[in-house]
Amino acid sequence: MRIMDFRSDTVTKPSEEMRKIMAYAEVGDDIYGDDPSSNALAAYAAELTGKEAAMYVCSGTMGNLIAFLVAGRPGESLLAGARSHVWCAEVGGFSGVAGLCPYPLNDDEGIPRKEDLAATSRADNNIHHPDTTILTLENTHNFTGGVAVSPAKFADVAREGRRLGFHVHLDGARIFNASVFHGVDVSAYVKEVDTVQFCLSKGLGAPMGSMLCGTAAFIEKAMKWRKRLGGAQRQVGVAAAAGLYALKNNIDRLALDHENALNMVKLLEKGGVEVEPVSNRTNMLFFRLRDEHPSDEEFVAKCKARGVLLNVNEPRRIRLVTHLDVNASDVEEAAAVILEVLS
Ligand SMILES: *Cc1c(COP(=O)(O)O)cnc(C)c1O
Repeated sequence: MRIMDFRSDTVTKPSEEMRKIMAYAEVGDDIYGDDPSSNALAAYAAELTGKEAAMYVCSGTMGNLIAFLVAGRPGESLLAGARSHVWCAEVGGFSGVAGLCPYPLNDDEGIPRKEDLAATSRADNNIHHPDTTILTLENTHNFTGGVAVSPAKFADVAREGRRLGFHVHLDGARIFNASVFHGVDVSAYVKEVDTVQFCLSKGLGAPMGSMLCGTAAFIEKAMKWRKRLGGAQRQVGVAAAAGLYALKNNIDRLALDHENALNMVKLLEKGGVEVEPVSNRTNMLFFRLRDEHPSDEEFVAKCKARGVLLNVNEPRRIRLVTHLDVNASDVEEAAAVILEVLS
């Protein structure tokens, strides 16, 4: 039975060609700056995003955390969307490790509202208030449905954050999904922020790793934090080579994943499933199980028994993600399975 894995785009496995490139990657000790593949990846990521410098990190979570550690100090305030990955799915690292005091913003539309920022700046010198240091944005926005926030809307909010004196960080785990969706260069987003983290390990198809990009001075400090957290690695070029391959080969094809997600929505809706509507859908979709449907566990198990893997994002809320290891016919087959299990 073919297993069709829609749990996340993180499940993508390195292709034959990527594995060959990894096997023969030139490597050295990256902590001495001697790893040519890691250096090449960093240079390419900086060029692609239009930032001065970049560095490889183990994960998106680590990239975000290091950005916060460099930009903020314990007791300062971090503004993050209440439905952001940073807030909901990074184990509270911003407070548990970076000591930041979080301030949740409404991001039901995929990005906090510009009007909400000024009130949180706490630039009133009130002795009771923490200083607000960082605003973190997310694009595409995962838990609201993979929303690709438009460059104009994104710039509007990011510029307001910078006007208020915040360090603006972009959790761009899937920023290339956003740039491909809107047909713009990724720098259209990145130029509006101080730092960006993006994942190599999701729809781009590398097995691991993320990049953190910013000014050279920022990345120099970030390297110290990466070392302190135990995230500096030696012959990391084996992974970096896969990342570079992913950036050079797998960006444009993200459009296919978006098409496949749209097709999945169409097929499910035709069968009576109320897929959560979102503006600018990229590679994911969410729907709720109704009272008459099986329990979450039963639903997931029955789909799995028929070869379809999917995620329960929160009780009664199912998420499906398209990526380079599921194709158009998998989408048709999986939609049929889901409809059968629900009927
Ligand atoms: C996956 C994800 C991350 C974290 O990446 P990991 O590599 O899994 O740590 C951060 N932000 C968003 C929006 C994500 O989807």
